[in-house]
Amino acid sequence: MSRRGEILAEIGLSPVWRLREKKSVDEWIPLKQAVSGCTKCGLHKTRTQTVFGVGDENADWMLIGEAPGAEEDRLGDPFVGQAGRLLDNMLAAIGLSRRENVYIANVLKCRPPGNRNPAPDEVEKCTPHLLKQIELIKPKLILAMGRFAAQTLLDTDASVASLRGRLHRYAGVPLIVTYHPAYLLRTLEDKAKAWEDLVFARKTMQTL
Ligand code: URA
Repeated sequence: MSRRGEILAEIGLSPVWRLREKKSVDEWIPLKQAVSGCTKCGLHKTRTQTVFGVGDENADWMLIGEAPGAEEDRLGDPFVGQAGRLLDNMLAAIGLSRRENVYIANVLKCRPPGNRNPAPDEVEKCTPHLLKQIELIKPKLILAMGRFAAQTLLDTDASVASLRGRLHRYAGVPLIVTYHPAYLLRTLEDKAKAWEDLVFARKTMQTL
């Protein structure tokens, strides 16, 4: 049981919490169906499958990336390729795992061919799915990884470098910006900054 679950159980509120969980399970079904059948942008023509999200639907942490790559498109889960292995190691370094209290999703639910950058109309059409996921998860903290996640949720053109290191909010939810794991694989010198961001995120979570 999560710490929050333990506290709620201790003060006799766990049945209320269970009711909330049940309600959101019901709300997940239409969203999952809407994503798997989505044809709002051209990416549905080239995808193998949609990549919805993975993890604990009652998580405190929500991590948001950019878009599925080849491995994600093949397997149907986010961050299962090389960038995903780095992400898992980074999570482990702050005592987290994608299996518990963490939910991972992307701005785009379909792979852009050749792993090109998401196009503005694709981001615009897909963002409502992500916003609904955030609404259902109600995370305590969002970690926006890379410029597409950060710029989409903060509605800005600013760079990751200028956004990291301080606390932002999306719809009232505290949000921290960090580099995308795929960028870190190419830019080793920024790994230390990503580590600083994770430590900042962990400290922030302890205050929430
Ligand atoms: N990069 C992302 O942004 N998301 C994935 O799921 C994989 C790689």
